[in-house]
Amino acid sequence: MGSAASRDAIQSIRAWAMQPTSSADAPARATETFGQLVFGDAVQKARLPKDVYRALRRTIERGVPLDLSAADAIANAMKDWAVEHGATHYTHWFQPMTGITAEKHDAFLTPTLDGKAVAEFSGKELVKGEPDASSFPSGGMRSTFEARGYTAWDPTSPPWLLKSSHGATLVIPCAFVSWTGEALDKKAPLLRSMEAISAQALRILRLFGSKAERVFTTCGPEQEYFLVDSHFFFARPDLINAGRTLFGARPPKGQEMEDQYFGSIPERVLAFMMEVENELYKCGVPVKTRHNEVAPSQYELAPIFENANVATDHQMMTMEVLKRVAPKFGLTCLLHEKPFAGVNGSGKHVNWSLSDDQGNNLLNPGDTPHDNLQFLVFCVAVMRAVDRFQGLLRASIASAGNDHRLGANEAPPAILSIFLGDQLADIFRQIEEGGAKTTKKGGALDTGATVLPKLPRDAGDRNRTSPFAFTGNKFEFRAVSSSQNVAWPNICLTLAVTEALDYVASDLEAAVSGGQTLDDAVAALLVAMTRAHKRIVFNGNGYSDEWRDEAARRGLLNHRDTVSALPELVAPGVVETFERYKVMSAREVQARYDVALESYSKTINVEGQLMVLVSNRYILPAALGYQTDVAQTVASVKQAGASSLAAEKTLTRLCELVDAARSQTDSLMHALEHGGGSPEEHARYFRDEVVPRMQALRETCDHLEVVMPSARWPLPTYREMLFIK
Ligand code: ADP
Ligand code: MG
Repeated sequence: MGSAASRDAIQSIRAWAMQPTSSADAPARATETFGQLVFGDAVQKARLPKDVYRALRRTIERGVPLDLSAADAIANAMKDWAVEHGATHYTHWFQPMTGITAEKHDAFLTPTLDGKAVAEFSGKELVKGEPDASSFPSGGMRSTFEARGYTAWDPTSPPWLLKSSHGATLVIPCAFVSWTGEALDKKAPLLRSMEAISAQALRILRLFGSKAERVFTTCGPEQEYFLVDSHFFFARPDLINAGRTLFGARPPKGQEMEDQYFGSIPERVLAFMMEVENELYKCGVPVKTRHNEVAPSQYELAPIFENANVATDHQMMTMEVLKRVAPKFGLTCLLHEKPFAGVNGSGKHVNWSLSDDQGNNLLNPGDTPHDNLQFLVFCVAVMRAVDRFQGLLRASIASAGNDHRLGANEAPPAILSIFLGDQLADIFRQIEEGGAKTTKKGGALDTGATVLPKLPRDAGDRNRTSPFAFTGNKFEFRAVSSSQNVAWPNICLTLAVTEALDYVASDLEAAVSGGQTLDDAVAALLVAMTRAHKRIVFNGNGYSDEWRDEAARRGLLNHRDTVSALPELVAPGVVETFERYKVMSAREVQARYDVALESYSKTINVEGQLMVLVSNRYILPAALGYQTDVAQTVASVKQAGASSLAAEKTLTRLCELVDAARSQTDSLMHALEHGGGSPEEHARYFRDEVVPRMQALRETCDHLEVVMPSARWPLPTYREMLFIK
């Protein structure tokens, strides 16, 4: 039984399971295909004139501006390479403020006078594009009559080929700016933030005697996602248009058995994952890890970290490839933060660190962190950054989708805090008490079975409940949402740490030029900063009520939803900091705020409208039909001179629920007519008046679902969507 979608899904899964395997289908070796479709270092070296190649590497490695005279040679080499690989078009690929990527394809083809055509691509076309981009949100930075927007080639992120069954397109990563030079995207501020942090970090490195010329932020984003059979997806208007289910009763079995987490991966899903990896390898995306996640039908994919700019582009590609490949396997990939109520939502863990141009990880504590002063300085700077810019960091991950995770008793909490782990927590305790003398060691781990090798034990355990955790040699920002562009939290975190590094560098430079030894200066600074910022450190259970109360006592922020978190973006200290380090102007920050706020209201509006639609056109008609059946049963039993308590009770309950659903649908519909007021008022109204009405309607309909016969329920159920795979 069950829905038609369910029967179709089962059929296609069976067909999948029974198809013969062929060794000819075995994918090529990853080491051979890796980077095959990338105009990367090796291709650049082979195809560019030596001086041009060197100039380009200087730009990529050290941020030296590229002389535009090199652009023609690079464009030509790119075009030749792309055409040899079957490309007919190129596209400037950029990341507008909407959070997704945008592309417009142009052909290389240029007609010649003799009626033929050649492939051409000039330096000018490589460097700058002008899409008719007036429809992208600009947060008021551009009105339509002055709508020029330019895409600007980012030479530090390598182009690649987007292959499809009918050809290939050369994809060129770009920034997107307005006629006045204001950033209309996420890449331009990301690159600016990376330059800002490099400058400040180098000041500190120089004090410690380093010869590094540049510091990069590094990023390894882990992506969580759901897969559902496409038959279910197409039978759910809410999944199609909102990316999440707006109705659906909890199934008898959810995730409580915990048998999904790291469980064996279903065959069809594994095939999908391998195809995704294969595609990503070819485009040079170093994906490394795959596994089942906590919720049924939830999975994770993680790459090896890269410089944050390239990592961001690769993350955007990863999301696109996940979505594009899934249908080939009869699946739909859901990147929404909360596709299903009652089971875990999806996040993106942004692993973040700093690396110098020699590849040294500046957050690597080494074996004896207590005397690794340089590490301690960088570490305490991150403490200051997260403490002082809690609000900004919270705002950087705020969205209607992430509201279902943060502040909703799910990982991670809405309160920003840092988990340091036993070893570092112990060292900072020692520092506060007068100086760190020792490092707690993990020692060897005895498994108790003699045949198993002795394992080195990590010095501290993990903590899954922390939104921001030190994990050995990097920080992991876990509150980031699954569907968002990681550029934005990267920008905000990088800015916050830039400010802290500036503070640290200024303090140490002054002390040293005043005659103090560096060691003494560092010792004094560490004590002062630990005392000032230790309130942000929390090593306990981040989900507990005790922590909520304790955090309030410590004066930490707790913004439970987007509408309350977003104003942190435009708080006075924040905007000045963006301006001071030239990461964004006040107008650019304000634009992000406006776009985020509007996006919240739009999302809730779409979800609300969808609920009205699904209720009116699917659920209520089905429920009324069943109500008629039951009423007829009651009547015919009566006519026969008997009475059925069961039928009468069912009818009464149905009438109650249907009446409630009717009036709640109407009430939601009226609430959605709200207009006027400032964008803030509008968003607040949606949060306070619309969201609760949506919840109430859902609750009623979910009750209806469990009293109605399966064959009459008009939507695929949770049990079907989550467990038929
Ligand atoms: P964990 O087990 O702590 O999650 P992994 O080694 O599996 O650690 O790493 C998780 C993610 O963190 C991966 O994407 C990895 O590449 C990334 N990562 C590791 N080191 C760094 C670093 N120095 N900077 C940024 N990301 C990193
Ligand atoms: Mg992780």
